[in-house]
Amino acid sequence: MSGLGDRLGSRIPEDLSVSLPAGPTNSEGWLQVDLVAPERAAVIQKLEWVADGVSPEEVAMVDWLVWTAIDYGELFDRVVEAGWLTDGVTDREIQVLKHLFFLATVDPGFALWLLAQPFLETVEYADGPAVESLLRVQLLVPGQANPVQALLLETGGLTDEWAPVVAMTWPVAQFTPQDLPRLYDPEVVRVHTKMVDLEESGPTLLAVVRTEPGAGETLALVESIVREVEGTMGRPLPLAYVGTLFGGAVAPGTIGINYGTGMVLETRFDVADGSYDAEQLRGVLAHEVGHYWWNSNENWVDEGMAEFVAAASYGFPSGKGYPFLREPCVRARSISSLPPEPRKAIPCDYSLGQRMFFSLYRLLGEDAFYAAARKLYDQSRDDLGHKSLFGLPSGVEDVRDAFGPQGDEALDRWYYGRDERKLDDF
Ligand SMILES: [Zn+2]
Repeated sequence: MSGLGDRLGSRIPEDLSVSLPAGPTNSEGWLQVDLVAPERAAVIQKLEWVADGVSPEEVAMVDWLVWTAIDYGELFDRVVEAGWLTDGVTDREIQVLKHLFFLATVDPGFALWLLAQPFLETVEYADGPAVESLLRVQLLVPGQANPVQALLLETGGLTDEWAPVVAMTWPVAQFTPQDLPRLYDPEVVRVHTKMVDLEESGPTLLAVVRTEPGAGETLALVESIVREVEGTMGRPLPLAYVGTLFGGAVAPGTIGINYGTGMVLETRFDVADGSYDAEQLRGVLAHEVGHYWWNSNENWVDEGMAEFVAAASYGFPSGKGYPFLREPCVRARSISSLPPEPRKAIPCDYSLGQRMFFSLYRLLGEDAFYAAARKLYDQSRDDLGHKSLFGLPSGVEDVRDAFGPQGDEALDRWYYGRDERKLDDF
């Protein structure tokens, strides 16, 4: 959206706004599109779901169409031709257009090529994450977008079958680019998918992507964990695709990561043979699934809740004995005595954060705990449930607000360290 002011100067005739439908948040964009690209503005206005009034859910799509019409006219024309704008708007379509727009800011030709691929004839569940993944390759891994494009051309272009693989591509391009040819080899890669209808999120695509032999049971475990975590969170997933790649593309020092467009877990966990790794898989998966809701807050909040979810996935035995209880933090008694935020995630964020939320769970009881956790989560979302662009990361004051005075004992102990009990007696 750069340079709009320069192009238009300050002369915007006031009467241009009268012909435009009411509702969109970005009235400045409306004024400009009518000046810069009046035919394209008319195309937007004639869309049935725009002409009959723009609902709050549709505003974002109108805004992205407006900015695309202003900055990348050819992309706009092709999006309209693609036909998926005629029958109303889905969140998936908004995500695709948004990421195509950003892709065009980096490489307009690549954005046009991507839009022409068969997978975008209609916008399916893994399509938004696939476009976002390629955007991140363009932005973060210089020189890797063209090899990925070449690999896709070899497979006959990007079809819906390939979208779950493409969604997992940027961490591979970033951390283990030597694995890309295997990931894109139809003889090697295996994609195991299932459509599920989730309580809060509705229709959602689950996928397990692997390039080594794995356990057939893994996808069912993913499903049960996603259902369970979504059920306790009581809030929809931020996207309609949950992908799990087993491979080496985890950042150094970690065994699994949620990259937003999907999760990557070390290959050794893709087993169901009663081994230690098989036992750990539930907790590692639950932790990463938890990050779909818990991210971009202070580290101890995000890792603490993800570790709470991981341990809770094994049930709540009385006393100690959670299979996924973290080693106690020996470096500090409390979260407030850790190095200041923003800091890189350190083991104490996980263990102190986990103990904080377990203590809150015990103090408040199950129902009140999850109600408070939802309140904490909602603080970082806008009215439509999207991640707020302007919200501050949640920290101790937000936790206090959400959990109320009943939780003070836990905050005193794990955040402020005002408690004399032994390190791990809780
Ligand atoms: Zn984590």
